[in-house]
Amino acid sequence: MSDDVITSGAVNNRPIPIETIREAVDIVVFSHGPATVEAPEPQCDYPKLCGEHCTYPRYARNGEPTGLVGKVLIQLGFPLKLLLDLDREHEMSELLHPGVKIGRSRNAALIRLGPKGIALLTFFQENQKSGKSWGNLSREAFGPKKLLRRRDMKRRPWRY
Ligand SMILES: [Zn+2]
Repeated sequence: MSDDVITSGAVNNRPIPIETIREAVDIVVFSHGPATVEAPEPQCDYPKLCGEHCTYPRYARNGEPTGLVGKVLIQLGFPLKLLLDLDREHEMSELLHPGVKIGRSRNAALIRLGPKGIALLTFFQENQKSGKSWGNLSREAFGPKKLLRRRDMKRRPWRY
């Protein structure tokens, strides 16, 4: 049996290489089309905190992964339950509104992504609703560097 098969009940703690995360991004972007532009989050249950559009991350909606980050997590083999847990998690010191940024989550399952994977998904999370297409975001994440190496390493640690 391949060790890629997760037997029921076993917790998979193996780190996911950044190349695998990049492949998952490519698959998600290709299958949805690189021109995909994410719509702003609709009004949430906390209009006084968010106004017209929700400003908190959302990973699943109606039982489906939502957004580039949610879809990449599912593509990587994480269960939908992780997304639901992230949607319910509160950021440290946030009492009212659930929904945690991927880099601030205390969910142990995310350790597998490593600091580079988290940095990459944080980049997508911060930009996925900016009106840029997923193809453009993926090019910004993995394309040739436009900055000096030292600055690029700071901005895109997942490339090094
Ligand atoms: Zn909200």
